[in-house]
Amino acid sequence: MALPLDRDQIQQLTEELEVIIAAHLAWFKQLNRVLVCGSEPPAADILPDAHLRSPFGVWYYTQEPHPLAEYAAFQELAAIQQAMHAAARRALAEVAAGRRPAPELYDQCIDLALRLNTRLRNLQLDIIGELLTTDALTGCSARRGMLARLREEQERARRIQRPCCICLMDFDRFKRINDELGHPAGDAVLRQGMRFTAAALRKYDSIYRYGGEEFLICLPGTPLRDAAQVIERIRQGLAQLPIRLASGATLNVTASFGLAELHPARAVEESIANADLALIRAKEGGRNRVEIWQE
Ligand code: GH3
Ligand code: MG
Ligand code: MG
Repeated sequence: MALPLDRDQIQQLTEELEVIIAAHLAWFKQLNRVLVCGSEPPAADILPDAHLRSPFGVWYYTQEPHPLAEYAAFQELAAIQQAMHAAARRALAEVAAGRRPAPELYDQCIDLALRLNTRLRNLQLDIIGELLTTDALTGCSARRGMLARLREEQERARRIQRPCCICLMDFDRFKRINDELGHPAGDAVLRQGMRFTAAALRKYDSIYRYGGEEFLICLPGTPLRDAAQVIERIRQGLAQLPIRLASGATLNVTASFGLAELHPARAVEESIANADLALIRAKEGGRNRVEIWQE
């Protein structure tokens, strides 16, 4: 599972987009001046790779991989921006030849430039919106919106007739880590432990921070038996993961897991309660284990 954007990325991308939007509007103003007043067209805009040279082009095409590469709203920008530059190139060629562009061509330039502006602004708002649904410490999804998204998963599972599983994960003796090593050490456990867990999952799995040191993992399209194997692998890997502390020391931690099917016909809350019963059994059974809820 790829974690959503972290806070630093969100801030950086928001600022980058602000600069790009300002540069785009400045370019748009200059384009209009040339088309309306017939002033000298800027040489760079006539070039076939004008779309790569703008601040947007540099930002969009030179980062490999781009942090937004998976976002559909980001992918859609390329076609709009290229069409806009192609239209502007044709309109500027008319001006350079001493003619005026046809009204349809002028409209095309304006419409595409305004559309790009709107799309850039919407992308920026979407990115800022991630702050509301992302847990700042771990990068997991926040609990807000969790039930609605689990209901969507349940609906999808029903439609495609494939089971979906949920798992509650709770760090063992976590209070002791805080008490003995300090709160920052506890934070390091949560951050590094959940980064490990997220990396061990598939792209379409999701993790929500359910409580302080308790997380809910959703495994769509996975029968209980397969989910148990995945979670068991995470349990073992986590137990061997050296957590690096600020002091330079490393620490090992374990977690307990309660697994249940996201029942297709019952309230999502009921399946969560089932996973919770399994988690309680895992704790009672000695911790650092996976328990599966069965009817
Ligand atoms: P068990 O094995 O039974 O789960 O024991 P436990 O100590 O993990 O469980 P308990 O619920 O008693 O303690 C959880 C602790 O997690 C209490 C709380 O202060 C701490 N905690 C919750 N959120 C955070 C956080 O964001 N950072 C840190 N460092 N600690 C947190
Ligand atoms: Mg705990
Ligand atoms: Mg707990």
